[in-house]
Amino acid sequence: MFDVLKIREDFPILKRKVNGKPLIYFDNAATSQTPQIVIDTIVDYYSNYNANIHRGVHSLSQEATDAYEIARKKIQTHFNAKHAHEVILTSGTTHAINIVATGFSALLKEGDELIVSALEHHSNIVPWQMLCERTGAVLKVIPMNEEGELQLEAYDNLLSDKTKLVFVNHISNALGTINPIKEIIDKAHKVGAAVLIDGAQSCPHIKPDVQALDVDFYVVSAHKLCGPTGVGMLYGKEEWLTKLPPYQGGGEMIETVTFEKTTYAGLPHKFEAGTPNICGGIAFGAALDYMNSIGFDTIAAYEQELLSYGTQKLLEIEGLKIYGTSANKTSVISFNIDGIHPYDIGTIVDKLGVAVRTGHHCAQPIMDYYKIPGTVRASFSFYNTKEEIDIFVEAVKKAKTMLS
Ligand SMILES: *Cc1c(COP(=O)(O)O)cnc(C)c1O
Repeated sequence: MFDVLKIREDFPILKRKVNGKPLIYFDNAATSQTPQIVIDTIVDYYSNYNANIHRGVHSLSQEATDAYEIARKKIQTHFNAKHAHEVILTSGTTHAINIVATGFSALLKEGDELIVSALEHHSNIVPWQMLCERTGAVLKVIPMNEEGELQLEAYDNLLSDKTKLVFVNHISNALGTINPIKEIIDKAHKVGAAVLIDGAQSCPHIKPDVQALDVDFYVVSAHKLCGPTGVGMLYGKEEWLTKLPPYQGGGEMIETVTFEKTTYAGLPHKFEAGTPNICGGIAFGAALDYMNSIGFDTIAAYEQELLSYGTQKLLEIEGLKIYGTSANKTSVISFNIDGIHPYDIGTIVDKLGVAVRTGHHCAQPIMDYYKIPGTVRASFSFYNTKEEIDIFVEAVKKAKTMLS
């Protein structure tokens, strides 16, 4: 049985007050809160076995190396990668995408085509635009519709033997839409293109299986799934990671260095130059353990309940419009109220203890599509409650009264 009150006990921050009111944290799509067990993992690392990894013979270094590599194995198991060396630990989703986008400079030529979607976060747009500038490749866009879904017929027409790479998010951070990525991947593979899936927004809700998806690259950030900031994963199929050149040069990523010639280390070290976020990697593993101990099916089912409850309650407010109305979406509600700026709503509900995000959510093309400057975005996690939604809805009503 899922007991949300018991779950909430795991998160010390949920006990604090903001502006004199109990914190209601509905900004989970920006970053999730951290359970005590992950905080303890971080404290334990710095209290007991902080050391640099992979190069020391001393005991502390061995312990830290073992813990780091155990975390990599946990991440491998969680995402069902075939090999642990296909899991590259990065500083997050953005870093992971940049590794791939920079690496593809060596593999593209002028006139090659790349396909992105209209639903992307800026971090899955800008690195590819930079790649196009370097190589002369051309960026094509899968359009979206009013519901906030991708138009797959248009995707079919964009695909050709010129297509080298397709990159789409699994779930839109601005709207919550779950994209049909299996279909997108399979169709790209039919024309010989590789696919990168931005899983930053899916990893808190879904347990993806990279082998079943047959995806070439899958990227996530630990801080969206109860882990710390500054660490994430680049999963890549072995054949792709072997083909791509290293992203950064430095220590740890080499086999031998002389001034005449340097040879690179094998996977995963080739892409892990310098001292990594050792503690972060270990805590990433602890966060996955924590989420799996609750279970992703349980998490998703409860969050769907919150989504339908919140949607129904918010729609009772006159003049309120929700953006992103796909039947396939996660617990994100992006909305505006007629004639009121989203920023003003965000400011007032914050005074009442509710944290929501306002603005373009790093997805300006979506806002341009709807011809709006931004939205108010409430994103629910498994530690939120219907009672919190009630308080939030009352706060929005109050804001509406004050601002109209
Ligand atoms: C949060 C997010 C990112 C960026 O993640 P960082 O941790 O800031 O690198 C990229 N894509 C999506 C869909 C996101 O939600």
